[in-house]
Amino acid sequence: MEPGIRWLITPDQIATRVRELGAAITADYAGKPLLVICVLKGSFIFAADLVRAIDLPLGVEFLGTQSYGDGQKSTGVVRITLDLARPISDCDVLIVEDIVDTGLTLTYLVDQLTRRGPKSVKVCALLHKPARSVEPVAIDYLGFTIDDVFVVGYGLDWAQRYRGLPGIGVVEQA
Ligand code: 5GP
Repeated sequence: MEPGIRWLITPDQIATRVRELGAAITADYAGKPLLVICVLKGSFIFAADLVRAIDLPLGVEFLGTQSYGDGQKSTGVVRITLDLARPISDCDVLIVEDIVDTGLTLTYLVDQLTRRGPKSVKVCALLHKPARSVEPVAIDYLGFTIDDVFVVGYGLDWAQRYRGLPGIGVVEQA
């Protein structure tokens, strides 16, 4: 464990929950092909584990996003920094997000992807901070609900650090 980091969710707890989410998604789509959209950067580790827990014919696409804001708060103005490499009009789409905080980013993404005319759009998020919700957003598959704390690890960064931690941690003040 990295000094100054306290585990909020351990690697074992994540692994168990990812298996459960994968089983639920597998059951719900019942053999139908699924297009997983991994929202970069924070979701890359979660998406990598999740796709290995889903037993369906899968495609994977990557969507790069950047929120404009002061670094702490999302403004809801989202810039797409890397777009999908293909149309999604014939697809059942599953957006894979790391964390839903205010909900502004996800609301924007669901809206933008829905405009491209997919068969369906659902959302799988690893973490949700309901205390900070500004825009209510439907999360079809949710890993964990957490308190209003800034978390790192398992893909999530703080100024580009800590993405490689195997669990979700809280940075303790020095
Ligand atoms: P929202 O638009 O829901 O407020 O913000 C979502 C994005 O803000 C997430 O995809 C993530 O990039 C960032 N974010 C929100 N809360 C946290 C947090 O606790 N830790 C980290 N590392 N990023 C966060």
